[in-house]
Amino acid sequence: MTDTNCIFCRIAGGDIPSSTVYEDEQFRVILDLSPAAKGHALILTKQHYANIFEIDEEVLRDLIVLAKKVAGAMKETLHCEGVNIVQNNGERAGQTVFHFHLHVIPRYADDGQQIGWKPGTSDPDEQAELAKKIGGAL
Ligand code: 5GP
Ligand code: ZN
Repeated sequence: MTDTNCIFCRIAGGDIPSSTVYEDEQFRVILDLSPAAKGHALILTKQHYANIFEIDEEVLRDLIVLAKKVAGAMKETLHCEGVNIVQNNGERAGQTVFHFHLHVIPRYADDGQQIGWKPGTSDPDEQAELAKKIGGAL
């Protein structure tokens, strides 16, 4: 399914032009309009899935393999020193476009970016309880 009201459906389908790095039947890889670093790419699914909860598992398998290839191509051609793979789900998690996409962000010594989180603290009992709770639902 695609959604004509969804900007990433329209970009993935080629209705809206984009800096396309790669395209196949399932995916379009584009450069982010507001890149965190030079070469910041987005892997878009051609089908509309809002997030990780909705995406088809087969599509996801192919997508992560493609992400590996894109990261390798960046390393080879852009000589980046590292790559962040980021994928946001839900407004609270920073998602702004509600069509599944994976960020592939090349990192350079002087890119001035900080992608991460503030490390917290953990309690062993709570950790055990949480692990059991999440694991129990798998
Ligand atoms: P999110 O915050 O949902 O994980 O990421 C959305 C990303 O899409 C942002 O990094 C934003 O810069 C990028 N973006 C939003 N609209 C467009 C667009 O029209 N074209 C391109 N190439 N990137 C976009
Ligand atoms: Zn869409």
